[in-house]
Amino acid sequence: MAVTRQQLMACLDELLQPHQLNDYCPNGLQVEGTDTIKHLVTGVTASQALIDRAISENADALLVHHGYFWKGENPALVGIKAQRIRQLLGNNINLIAYHLPIDVHPKQGNNVQLGELLGFKNLAPLPSLKPNGIVYSADTAKPVRAGELHAHIATQLGRAVLHEGDKNAIVKTVAWCTGGGQGYIEQAAQAGVDAFITGEVSEQTIHIAREMNIHFYAAGHHATERYGVKAVGEWVGSKLPVTVQFIDIDNPA
Ligand SMILES: [Zn+2]
Repeated sequence: MAVTRQQLMACLDELLQPHQLNDYCPNGLQVEGTDTIKHLVTGVTASQALIDRAISENADALLVHHGYFWKGENPALVGIKAQRIRQLLGNNINLIAYHLPIDVHPKQGNNVQLGELLGFKNLAPLPSLKPNGIVYSADTAKPVRAGELHAHIATQLGRAVLHEGDKNAIVKTVAWCTGGGQGYIEQAAQAGVDAFITGEVSEQTIHIAREMNIHFYAAGHHATERYGVKAVGEWVGSKLPVTVQFIDIDNPA
């Protein structure tokens, strides 16, 4: 049971079509390790804790949603970035990262996976936003009170969720963007949905929610983005002779 790095990358690129998106980081192979891959570890962010786990699990490759080399950051390999990359290279582990391609993918993407986890119906990308699929909208499984939706999201994600709005109001339609998508709340309100869900909250998000009369839920950047990379890994495991293991490093943010 093994594949070459080239076979793995070809499989991922075919699924995720990274060349179609203009992203804030390089998508694909970010740090080159061994040519032969038997064990693939997946996780949300290439933090030191995830690298340590990948090493202890004998990973040949680590596939993440949040890799390195973001636009605007100091490109020098110093500090924690040097430490992380030294460990990857020293252990011959490939680091593979896909950012927007994992957010927007119509099956394995973060947005679709979260919508399915929450049991929404009639999922569709909110039109006119680029890239297509960055915000999704849907109907709730049935009309629910905003407070019930709050409890439902918290149960499904296993964490506390922030809700702004009247908990007794009825919610029938939702829009969402996993991760740090709070900037899309105005577009969601303009699209006429009852509620907007994302990972993070900013001070101004609450005022926009109140003044545009839309329910707002912040359910955690990490918690809302666990499911895309996990699904991509499972898909790879169904296509290629590699073992795949998702490792969740808890993050309250
Ligand atoms: Zn993210």
